[in-house]
Amino acid sequence: MIKKTLKIFWEAVRPQWWLWLIAISGQMLFFIGVNVLQPVLISRFVGELSDVAGKTLSDFSNIIWLWVGLHILQTAVGRVGLYCWFFAASKTLMRIDLKSFQVILSQSSNFFSNNFTGSLVTRFNRFTRSFDILQKAVMFDLNSLFVQLVFPFAILLFIAPIIAFTFLVWSVVFAFSLFYLHKRKMKYSRRVAEFDSKVTGTIADVITNALPVKMFAQFSSEYSSFKILGKQRVKARLKNMMLTDWIRLYKVAFITVLEVVVFLFSAHFAIEGTISVEQVLLIQIYVIQIIRSLWDFGKLMDNLEEAVSDAHEMAEIYDLTPSIQDPVDPIPFGTVNGNIKINNITFSYEDENETVVFKNLTLDIPQGQKVGFVGPSGGGKTTLTKLLLRFMDVNNGSINIDEINISDVKQDDLRSQIAYVPQEPMLFHRSIFENIRYGNPEASKEEVFRAAKLAHADEFIKKLSSGYETLVGERGVKLSGGQKQRVAIARAMLKKSPIIILDEATSALDSKSEKHITAALDNLMRNRTTIVVAHRLSTIKKLDRIIVLKNGQIVEDGSHETLLKKQGDYHELWSHQHGDFLDE
Ligand code: ADP
Ligand code: MG
Repeated sequence: MIKKTLKIFWEAVRPQWWLWLIAISGQMLFFIGVNVLQPVLISRFVGELSDVAGKTLSDFSNIIWLWVGLHILQTAVGRVGLYCWFFAASKTLMRIDLKSFQVILSQSSNFFSNNFTGSLVTRFNRFTRSFDILQKAVMFDLNSLFVQLVFPFAILLFIAPIIAFTFLVWSVVFAFSLFYLHKRKMKYSRRVAEFDSKVTGTIADVITNALPVKMFAQFSSEYSSFKILGKQRVKARLKNMMLTDWIRLYKVAFITVLEVVVFLFSAHFAIEGTISVEQVLLIQIYVIQIIRSLWDFGKLMDNLEEAVSDAHEMAEIYDLTPSIQDPVDPIPFGTVNGNIKINNITFSYEDENETVVFKNLTLDIPQGQKVGFVGPSGGGKTTLTKLLLRFMDVNNGSINIDEINISDVKQDDLRSQIAYVPQEPMLFHRSIFENIRYGNPEASKEEVFRAAKLAHADEFIKKLSSGYETLVGERGVKLSGGQKQRVAIARAMLKKSPIIILDEATSALDSKSEKHITAALDNLMRNRTTIVVAHRLSTIKKLDRIIVLKNGQIVEDGSHETLLKKQGDYHELWSHQHGDFLDE
């Protein structure tokens, strides 16, 4: 998965790889100026100072000019790198966002019923953040470490090869050992984090339940269990602090060893006369620099590892093939007549229980017919509507519209022919106007208002403080169930499609408004193939045909009158509802 993640990141970097190259190189040159050349100048300066006999200030002008020149140059080059980085980084982050957006939205409906919105948003954000952490580390931390390791090594190679190798080997060993120690310690810092959240959780839980605690006189027992938790947390914290300190001690010891070795070598070569004081100073500066940079190396690697593993969950989604795919060679699907033929379909949900919903179901709905579906909940009514919209594919058999198998056409083409009001209408956190117009983005203002009126939404919308401009809150939480349904119906009314599917579209309405809407729907349904799933039989009584669906089987099929005469399931449902809803 790490490889997968890095590959996705690389795809986002690639369109601007040259900008990234300039950015990283510019920053590298800046680091070379600061961490490699500046120390050279400083040690030269001290070298000049070590023998001042007969010198005047002007003898130092060269070195001062060099210093000024170096600063101007490194700053200029560094800026160029930084500006390129600003662009490269922000644009790459945007590309990652866009790609993730596309990847998530291309998933099929079962993906969204199996994943919580919240966790998807978190994955989405973490993925982008991961890249952000990674790119900053490459641009700055790793870049500067590289410069501080490779260039000093090359320079020291000329001055004193033994010291150069000591420097290199020590740095590498130090880095790896810090990485290892940090990994070992991780278990303990995790424990501390776990206890932290346990304590927070307990506090929240007990405070929310403050009243029951008092009611049942449980303060002392709550207090003592909280105290036990507190003690465990102290233990975990102490262990973690101790370990942190041990690692610190290890670092100091390791550094001391390096210093002693470098001191000894320096003194030895100075006595031999092979290196000067000036060079000893240069070695010291390099050594101190690398120590400072490596001090937190363990933490840096930790962060990088965490970032990459955080990205993992989103990278997994990148790897998914959406279960519903457009055909390679889609059949053109213009405006259809609306003949629906369900041929011998079998369908089961792919979850743990493998719920079989339909087994060899066959059904013909001729163009323009209006069919009501009733039956006990769980019978498969919603599933059938979703199959018609190809939110899922049938396992066997086929669904044809105008003799064309719906899996042979593009999903967008298919869905453009169907106006659908789902059982739980969902609205964007946008204005009501925009939500209605979603059904047909080309609709004029008047058409939107007309649809709202027909759906009896206009009456409540006008009462809202900002009318049609009112924002509905995430998923429409600010509207009542019935209001949401009316907005969803208005939205479907705007969409002029030959097939209409209403899945309990009026279930949250009172019988009176339902009656009004049913009248409006009559208008909408004219000349269109319509499927109405309803709980209240009064809603569908007038339709051409009523189908009773029970356990995925059609148990009765006919008009209201015929079914009543049959004295079967429909008759039973009807007599149950008779008193409640029959208002004639
Ligand atoms: P209805 O709309 O008639 O009440 P549904 O079509 O919603 O019935 O459900 C039919 C069966 O399929 C039920 O047993 C239900 O538990 C199951 N089911 C519905 N949706 C899913 C899903 N997303 N995953 C798994 N099983 C489901
Ligand atoms: Mg349903």
